[in-house]
Amino acid sequence: MSPTPQHTSALVLFSGGQDSTTCLAHALARYPRVETLGFDYGQRHSVELQARTVVIQQLREQFPEWRERLGEDHLFDLGVLGQVSETSLTRDTAFKMEASGLPNSFVPGRNLLFLTLAAALAYRRGIPVIVTGVCETDFSGYPDCRDDTMKALQVALNLGMDHRFLIDTPLMWIDKADTWRLAERLGHESTVPGGGQALVELIAEHTHTCYLGDREHRHAWGYGCGSCPACELRAKGWLGYRAG
Ligand code: ZN
Repeated sequence: MSPTPQHTSALVLFSGGQDSTTCLAHALARYPRVETLGFDYGQRHSVELQARTVVIQQLREQFPEWRERLGEDHLFDLGVLGQVSETSLTRDTAFKMEASGLPNSFVPGRNLLFLTLAAALAYRRGIPVIVTGVCETDFSGYPDCRDDTMKALQVALNLGMDHRFLIDTPLMWIDKADTWRLAERLGHESTVPGGGQALVELIAEHTHTCYLGDREHRHAWGYGCGSCPACELRAKGWLGYRAG
């Protein structure tokens, strides 16, 4: 399903990372009114939650036309996730890959929960579109990020809420290099002079992806430890983007 004129507003699942920030820019370029939703589930590193606030503030300051469209930011307390799963995101255990091929940070079905809560909020707020940065290309290990999962969930939510939501997944089939390129294009298509590079630099400087919460080491692609899987993916994407 593609957006139609009745898709006047969107709710973006926004974590403060590279992907969800690119999704937020996508939504701001595409929908007249945009709200954001984040989840606080006791992340070990509150830098993620701080990044959300800073990114929104920077988008407002640097892109006046998007400031007009950017509405409320919602933050839901999901401490229950810490009870569900022993995970490196919520406890002081080191990040590692499990025999299943999934990182031990993986919370089974987490995106199903996120999107169900997003739909409940969107219903209450009269918002027809939910935007999420799920992607099959780089992290095929996450079954709740797959396109089939999203399509099935869209059907389930629409049946279960007797509604007509569209789940918009702009990153589903692109890799991390193309995610940087998408950000550059979205910024470029804004009315801000030099907006392409400005948005890329905003994302590099202010978004947070590193699993270890490292905000000390600045690389061309942003802050991070440089060696966790999230940093490796982000760095590889940046190199691909810079290589053209
Ligand atoms: Zn890292």
